[in-house]
Amino acid sequence: MQHFSENFEDLEKIEIERPNTQEILNLHDDLISKIKSATSSEEASEILKRFFRLTDTVSTIFNLIYIRHSCDTRDQKYDELSTLIDEFGPEINVKSNEFIKALLASPFIADLEKEFGQYFFDLQKLSLKTVSSEIIPDLIEENKTVAEYVKLIAQALIEFNGQKYTLSEMGKFTTSVDRETRKNASEAVWNFYEKNDDTIGDIYDRLVKIRTRIAHKLGYQNFLQLAYDRMHRLDWGPDDAAIYREKVLEDIVPLSKQIFNRQKERLGYQNDTKYYDYKVFYKTGNPIPDKDANGLISAAAEMYENLSPTASKYFNFMVSHNCMDVVSKPGKASGGYMTYIPDLKTSFIFSNFNGTSGDVDVLTHEFGHSLQGFLGADYIVPDYRSPGMECCEMHSMSMEFLTYPYMQNFFGKDTEKYLYSHTCDAITIIPYIVIVDAFQAYVYEHPDISHQERKAYWRKLEKTYLPHLTYEDNNFLASGGYWMKQTHIFEVPLYYLDYSIAQVVALEFFIASLKEPQKTFEKYISFCKLGGTLPFRSLLKAADIANPFDGDTLKEVATNIMKYLNTFDLTKIDS
Ligand SMILES: [Zn+2]
Repeated sequence: MQHFSENFEDLEKIEIERPNTQEILNLHDDLISKIKSATSSEEASEILKRFFRLTDTVSTIFNLIYIRHSCDTRDQKYDELSTLIDEFGPEINVKSNEFIKALLASPFIADLEKEFGQYFFDLQKLSLKTVSSEIIPDLIEENKTVAEYVKLIAQALIEFNGQKYTLSEMGKFTTSVDRETRKNASEAVWNFYEKNDDTIGDIYDRLVKIRTRIAHKLGYQNFLQLAYDRMHRLDWGPDDAAIYREKVLEDIVPLSKQIFNRQKERLGYQNDTKYYDYKVFYKTGNPIPDKDANGLISAAAEMYENLSPTASKYFNFMVSHNCMDVVSKPGKASGGYMTYIPDLKTSFIFSNFNGTSGDVDVLTHEFGHSLQGFLGADYIVPDYRSPGMECCEMHSMSMEFLTYPYMQNFFGKDTEKYLYSHTCDAITIIPYIVIVDAFQAYVYEHPDISHQERKAYWRKLEKTYLPHLTYEDNNFLASGGYWMKQTHIFEVPLYYLDYSIAQVVALEFFIASLKEPQKTFEKYISFCKLGGTLPFRSLLKAADIANPFDGDTLKEVATNIMKYLNTFDLTKIDS
């Protein structure tokens, strides 16, 4: 199998050989039989370490292929290799599970738990609880049904102004500063969903029933707890989420209402403000960066140099070793991501700069992910390097706020505009996320209700959490159809809440940084270094971060953010 060294000079120049799939499977088989026949805890420990190294090398090969393919989808070699790993991935998963099962049955488990930590084994046990050979046909059906939704959305073509656009391309029209354009564009988009109301309703109904069936076969009362177990939520559950949603209603919704009211005043439509108007935050347009891609990267390098020697070291490493591909070019896949490459001990950032404030977010948000990747790199257990789903966005979202004092270097005259709207977005997204979560909890607790009843429940939630939304001239939205565009509801059930938990933690870091910037950044670095060594509650406790679920955390965040927002002179910003 190909071997890699962390002493590389240029990521782009690393040659990638075609992986020998049979060899990889054989290496797994060898470790499975060795762990079964190990005669001492030292031997079992050595085998487990070899398993971790094998996992790292396989994920290094897979990630490099994925990166090359996304940077140029026209390159035939990587197109073929990408198909190869798509097909081969599930086979490796089966082998890994087989190894883990043998490991958990090992007579030396107590010694191994002492050496590698209980948490790794708890995670593996939870994973195994959510799979069984009995549900394989149901899982295939679940994936196929999700794929039906994905395909319907991806292939949608919306006719607008005599041309055809995809749903994501319509985004530039639905957020247009020209009111007539955004009105017509929004209606065109929602017409698509209205036309497909029955189809999407049927796809979702089947998904709910398949998932409920899987849960019953695995011995769960309904799908809700199974969804939590699938996401490795070890130390919190649906009851915590329900309490959190109530707190959001009490502490965040009033602030969010105030933000929307101010927006309404700025836009000047008063009682005639429509749902599509809220897509435009400033009458005079959104903040845009005042530099090109190279200018933004230089500004980021300068910022990290001033902010922290640790951050600066890794940012410069990524630039000098070609670990960022941020500019749009022909053949490049869309979207953006950051991925960690274990055997090279580096992160890679992929994005398509498009001249919006999103470009700056790549250099803060994605670099926050990267920095955590670097700082967690030394744990032998791969699961310990980065935290679970509810915590992995905390480092990235926090970096967006910890870099606030440097935004002048990216936005120039639009700086105030950026700071104000970015903070407002962080607050107003929370009630929306909570609706998505409450909706799904209700649906999976009542799997037999009809599509119409689901829609009615969604609308009821909107009226509670986002009361400013009025849909009098859109029957589809008034009937509770908005959720049909929220892909997470179909693809990763019950996941979305994690973004709001991470958002609150990011706001906590921000509030602390206003008083003590230096000390807060040091605390952030320590938090990154903890990686994923602990489950959610313990991780926050170890990092001395107030848990968004507990006590008055939300109330304090809301009070402090309101104070910060009140320091802006809005008449000056939006004129
Ligand atoms: Zn992220």
